[in-house]
Amino acid sequence: MPVLLYAESADGLFKKSIFETASYARAVADQNNTSLTAISIGDVGTDELALLGKYGADKVLNVSNAKLKNFVNQAYASVIAEAAKNENADIVVLSNSFSGRGLAPRIGVKLSAGVIDGAVSLPDQKDGKFIVKKTAFSGKAFAITELTSANKVIALTPNTYKLVEKNAPGSVQDFSPEISEADFTATIKEIIRSAEKVSLPDAEIVVSAGRGIKGPENWSMIEELADLLGAATACSKPVSDAGWRPHSEHVGQTGIAVSPNLYIAIGISGAIQHLAGISASKVIVVINKDPEAPFFKVADYGIVGDAFEVVPKLIEAVKQHKA
Ligand code: FAD
Repeated sequence: MPVLLYAESADGLFKKSIFETASYARAVADQNNTSLTAISIGDVGTDELALLGKYGADKVLNVSNAKLKNFVNQAYASVIAEAAKNENADIVVLSNSFSGRGLAPRIGVKLSAGVIDGAVSLPDQKDGKFIVKKTAFSGKAFAITELTSANKVIALTPNTYKLVEKNAPGSVQDFSPEISEADFTATIKEIIRSAEKVSLPDAEIVVSAGRGIKGPENWSMIEELADLLGAATACSKPVSDAGWRPHSEHVGQTGIAVSPNLYIAIGISGAIQHLAGISASKVIVVINKDPEAPFFKVADYGIVGDAFEVVPKLIEAVKQHKA
């Protein structure tokens, strides 16, 4: 029975994390000597859909329906579950993204499947078992979880599986699911884009700052560094609570979870509630004047120093590198 991948898109494009998820789903299919079918919902062009083949999809189901143009949790879950049933897929893989976290349990209910969210490993299928390592307690711990149900849903944490090119056929077929009005109890009427230049949840680089920056009047250096790096800006909770920055930039347990390749934390202490939102970052750089700041414990690179001296030097260095 094939594995089904839900390939989430935004503005007609797939994020890098979707190709990681495709690579992971391909590996799960290979473990089970079966094929990988991907499903895409929304307006995604044929060239983009073909990229799913590059990362291992044998077949791509394309759902293009005006009612499903914008993400609707319940309706998307119904479509994915219907595709899984049609394809006889017993394993559904998706990204543990913001929408993926809402979809996984809904798909699980519709398929009577066991669900693992926040997966960070391939299934260990020795002795007929199906065991997956996943994050727990907001990324502070790992849980080794066994799925015993026949159907399974796995939501993969971004940045935890490498991209693997497989160049499978990726042939695209239109898929027209049954659509039930009952699934549209809440719909998106309008999307109002924020003024941010780079979308924070999707950013490859994030420049984030905390109370160590002292006040909103000092944010120009954070924005300048972010502009130079093509990064999104973010902040700690107290910063947005104080109104120094918009709440849409607040990262952490009660804010946005990010998964960039590079997270630069400037004047942020590294409280567990903040770390909960950044644990899927690939490389973490911390700038803090306190060598005992907890953030250094999770940093790949740490700079002990005053942000007001370090950041301008960093800006100059990036400018010189770009010149
Ligand atoms: P501080 O703790 O005040 O740290 C400032 C840091 O800046 C210090 O480490 C200091 O050494 C450094 N610094 C000071 N001056 C300089 C300088 N000139 N140069 C360099 N470094 C300097 N927080 C979040 O961020 N996100 C959340 O989602 C979140 N959710 C929460 C949920 C709950 C239920 C609770 C109780 C708390 C939550 N918090 C959250 C708050 C969290 O516990 C911390 O209080 C908060 O993250 C601290 O923010 P901060 O690091 O910016 O400030």
